[in-house]
Amino acid sequence: MDNIIMKGAPAAAELAAGLKKRSEKLKALETVPCLALIRVGEEAADISYEKGLLKRAEEAGVTVKKYLFDASAGKEEILEAVRDINRDETIHGCLMFRPLKDRTAEMEVSELLDPKKDVDSMTLRSQARAYTDGSEGFYPCTAEAVMELLRYYHIDVRGKKAVVIGRSQVIGRPAAMLLLNSDATVTICHSKSNGLKDICRSADILVAAVGRAEMIDESYLGEGQIVLDVGVNTNAEGRLCGDVKESAKQELASAYTPVPGGVGSVTTAILMKHVIEAAEKGRGIYNE
Ligand code: NAP
Repeated sequence: MDNIIMKGAPAAAELAAGLKKRSEKLKALETVPCLALIRVGEEAADISYEKGLLKRAEEAGVTVKKYLFDASAGKEEILEAVRDINRDETIHGCLMFRPLKDRTAEMEVSELLDPKKDVDSMTLRSQARAYTDGSEGFYPCTAEAVMELLRYYHIDVRGKKAVVIGRSQVIGRPAAMLLLNSDATVTICHSKSNGLKDICRSADILVAAVGRAEMIDESYLGEGQIVLDVGVNTNAEGRLCGDVKESAKQELASAYTPVPGGVGSVTTAILMKHVIEAAEKGRGIYNE
């Protein structure tokens, strides 16, 4: 089937070009947009995401201050870093790789972080934004990246049937809410959903945020669908892959995001957008 491959790179490059101008304007006001990054342990997926993030930060004119901890670090050490980030006026945003093994520490970090610096929707105040009409806080970057790709590739979601597989607080739920806010008719599926294949086949737009390598094969897809594959997994051959089989996307979708090179590349650009926005808000020059 002739299809559009919704690559993330051009969408991210367009965003980065705009962001560079905004960070230069901030620098002229002696404000250098800065992201604090908290990483606990050496998870391969975190390190790979960090590499992409550093490249994107450089392109956008954002500096990154790293807070790195051993996997065995205690909760108090991490909380102290967050207090430091809250106090430091030269830091505008904070990203912490999640989930932490210590879920209590993760919850306490989200309670402690200054919501103004919560550029990846860790705090309840940011999370509330997707569920209300509020303008405070930031959407989770990956969910916003899904919407950005739809916008970039001129896919109108209004009135369409969207199915989101996954109900996590970081991706599935907010992605569903953002689609709903754009007037799609949304169904959210999860591991206990009955008739998953039929529900998926009935979608105009399918968002897969499952975290299971190539679980979605041809039997889940309908011809002409738009497929946004959020999953980042490793398959049996040790290769990076999505939740949806690439061959199934190629065969049946009218447009789809590849893995790698799809949603992930836009996610880091959205993160930089949030950091710059936070810095602009701090200087009182943010224009919505
Ligand atoms: P998560 O918290 O593990 O959530 C996975 C969701 O998938 C859950 O709601 C789960 O249902 C559902 N699920 C699991 N097995 C299922 C099945 N057999 N059938 C239907 N639903 C099933 O994962 P996440 O944090 O949302 O991440 C999802 C994926 O996105 C991962 O591959 C992750 O690596 C990737 N990711 C990508 C980016 C990016 O920028 N591209 C960023 C972050 C994460 P239950 O709720 O019932 O358990």
